[in-house]
Amino acid sequence: MNTQLWIDNRAVPALEGETLDTPNPATGELLATLARGRREDVQIAVASSKKAFPGWSRMDPNERARILWKAGELILANLEELARLESLDTGKPIANARAIDVPRTADTFFYFSGWATKLTGDTIPVRGPILNYTLREPLGVIAAIIPWNFPLLLAARKVAPALAVGNTVVLKPPEEASLSSLRLAEILAEAGVPPGVLNVVTGLGEEAGAALVEHPDVAKISFTGGTDTGRIIMRAAAGTLKKLSLELGGKSPNIVFGDADVEAAAKSAVQAIFYNQGQLCTAGSRLLVERRVLDQVTEIVVSGTKGLVSGDPLDPKTQMGPLVSAAHRDRVENYIAAGMVDGATCRAGGGSHGPGFFVEPTVFADVNPSMRIAKEEIFGPVLAILPFDTLDDAAALAEDTEFGLAAGIWTRDIGKAHVLASRIRAGTVWINTYNRFDAASPYGGYKQSGFGRENGRAVLEELTQLKSVWVNLG
Ligand code: NAD
Repeated sequence: MNTQLWIDNRAVPALEGETLDTPNPATGELLATLARGRREDVQIAVASSKKAFPGWSRMDPNERARILWKAGELILANLEELARLESLDTGKPIANARAIDVPRTADTFFYFSGWATKLTGDTIPVRGPILNYTLREPLGVIAAIIPWNFPLLLAARKVAPALAVGNTVVLKPPEEASLSSLRLAEILAEAGVPPGVLNVVTGLGEEAGAALVEHPDVAKISFTGGTDTGRIIMRAAAGTLKKLSLELGGKSPNIVFGDADVEAAAKSAVQAIFYNQGQLCTAGSRLLVERRVLDQVTEIVVSGTKGLVSGDPLDPKTQMGPLVSAAHRDRVENYIAAGMVDGATCRAGGGSHGPGFFVEPTVFADVNPSMRIAKEEIFGPVLAILPFDTLDDAAALAEDTEFGLAAGIWTRDIGKAHVLASRIRAGTVWINTYNRFDAASPYGGYKQSGFGRENGRAVLEELTQLKSVWVNLG
């Protein structure tokens, strides 16, 4: 398959001919050699997307809709290949890639295909003999920068809505896992996306990514990744006053009250943290449990964690694969060591093993809110369990974080659930469920989890701008 840059619907090597190796996380062995795009490659890609913009933005929206729908169909037709690629490149269990990553990617194209013909302006009753109306217009070239945890799905979340409303896109996939983005671009070309409408520049964040952020012909950066990288991008984007949306990190509270269906809550809590090896921005990494059911919940969580099947990501029975890279494994190991040193009790896991970058799903009890494992985003398979006594305690603990991405609430008391849902400052709140997403429902962060929204109608407003037109009827 293509491991070069993708520009004008063709695979091309990086100008300097440089490459980057990417390992298979399950074995540590070389998986692919990618082109290492740099500033000059970004310039070519942006120029191509700028050139493609007038044609694509003025295309009959019915035609744009048909192309995006076709893309969704081709993604489903290639489900097995895409699932295998994503599993090999990221280490995620293939069962999850088959059931979630690829079908949700197709859904995203189907959903936004419909919007191509439905975004409208307003007529406005202003003073005088005037017709005043608004036009909702695309921005131009969008730079989409994505992380490695759900590369295919996150690429779709950025590319599908941007293209639906007439923008063109330069996609910078993560250096750890670029293969599905490159394959997606081929599929979009097959669906009828014209040359230049979607270009892909593989490479490093501080090289290709930074060049995109600084490029004067890029209208907007749509970024998903770490909070520290978000800060760097925000500073760099100031030079050209770019529009930004930032989907950043999280340290999400998953709150279990004593009046909940405790067994369902505890079983779900295992999935909430360990799905995708904990490499999920919304991972329920802080399990807050009402003290009267603390022992019961902890026992179920510990036994559920010990029962997770770890192994070869390509084996359909595997529930836990490796982490994405050796560097990320080392980072997660450091947090586990910090949890032990700080005095938390490790109730499950705690170890790591090779070949590949496997870390055991790890549960810490007796966690104090000031410990690093309770405060910082680990982005790995590490759960911190903390007790609380009252609804106010739960709300205060939930809020004791710089992040505001998501929260879970488990209770049979509907009033309590809604009161807490309105009090927690997070972009998503799940009640008696966790980690549900849909292309139709807006998604994004409060506080330092970022700003801007993806999915739903909300993202379309961020990918367009309003023009007010005044017509003298006098
Ligand atoms: P990262 O911030 O290191 O990298 C993300 C992307 O940014 C990569 O493509 C990288 O090459 C690029 N990048 C890095 N430095 C850059 C720079 N200076 N300029 C431009 N681009 C640059 O994040 P990661 O390690 O790949 O992913 C993990 C992080 O992503 C976690 O913090 C996680 O919470 C977050 N995340 C957030 C969401 C969300 O929707 N809020 C979803 C998934 C992951």
